[in-house]
Amino acid sequence: MPGRSPLGYLNDSRDKSIVINKNVSPFIIQAFERYSKGNTQLKEISSFLASKGIITSKNKNLRIDKTKKLLSNSFYYGIFKYGGEVYEGRHTPIISKALFDKVQDVLSSRNKQWQHANVERIPKPYLGLLRCGECGMMISAEIHNKYYKNTNHHAKYIYYHCTKKNKGIKCGQKYIRDVDLEPQLTTLIKKYTLKKTWANQILLKLKIEESDISKSCLDVISIKRKDLEQIDVKLKLLLDSYLDQMIDKDDFQQKKFELMSKRKTIEEQILSLKKNQGNWIEPFKNWIIEASCVDQIISTQDKQQIKVLASKIFGSNLFLENKTVRGDGINAWSALGADPTGRCLVPPRGIEPRITP
Ligand SMILES: [Zn+2]
Repeated sequence: MPGRSPLGYLNDSRDKSIVINKNVSPFIIQAFERYSKGNTQLKEISSFLASKGIITSKNKNLRIDKTKKLLSNSFYYGIFKYGGEVYEGRHTPIISKALFDKVQDVLSSRNKQWQHANVERIPKPYLGLLRCGECGMMISAEIHNKYYKNTNHHAKYIYYHCTKKNKGIKCGQKYIRDVDLEPQLTTLIKKYTLKKTWANQILLKLKIEESDISKSCLDVISIKRKDLEQIDVKLKLLLDSYLDQMIDKDDFQQKKFELMSKRKTIEEQILSLKKNQGNWIEPFKNWIIEASCVDQIISTQDKQQIKVLASKIFGSNLFLENKTVRGDGINAWSALGADPTGRCLVPPRGIEPRITP
């Protein structure tokens, strides 16, 4: 693995390998073991490491995010990512994959708890999602408690309103309450649902397309391989003619060079054919699935999820004007908004749809 080794390992500059740091690695192992039990906080792991002398270069405890990163580093059981690829390292792992998995389970369950708590704590769920249709500034929110006279009862409303920070326009927009905003938003999002039946048909077509692509790729590759064989035959004949003194040395070298460079070109073509076959299919497939689940996401009533979906569909194209939400879908979503039957979405065979992931 290029770069600096993770905590618990050392870079051996002599042969550029990564070796176990015997002074530190036992505590890294213990950190994994402690956290895997599920009753320890990341902060405690960081203090534990500090008590063993594992601190930052500025003499501080490892930050929580760094501790979390350490506990999520697959390098410790032998695998690492570099430049988007996964490699099996030549270094000695210090923990088992099973222990690592246990720790990941604890981390993700903590994450869910945190997210849950966070959703409760996010009082203004659609902050940062909309812009003012009149002046283009962001829509902000504030909370108002309404107390009802002579009762203990009170209600909480969120008012969304333009920040009116545009000095060039005197914006006259009024606020809108969350209870009036939310149904508009979900109605608008619903327009971007891809019918399940359509989704299934497209997925089926994609499957056929996928196998067609890989079949036609294989066909081309086998033709290229035949070309390679022919070049090898020619090379052999060339050598024979040279040995039989039918051509001189200069001619021989020249012809040999031509054939060898042709060979290299074909080899590279084969490699790139293997690498690039149908690599647009996967992101397209994921989008189809997401677009067919819009209804489900709305029905969860999870405001955070709805916000994420809305920003995927509309980007910064979502506006609030005169208490009305409007917006146009971006990228692939735009096709759904224009034609809710999904008719235009069936990809013409052999033509790559433009998808910006
Ligand atoms: Zn405004």
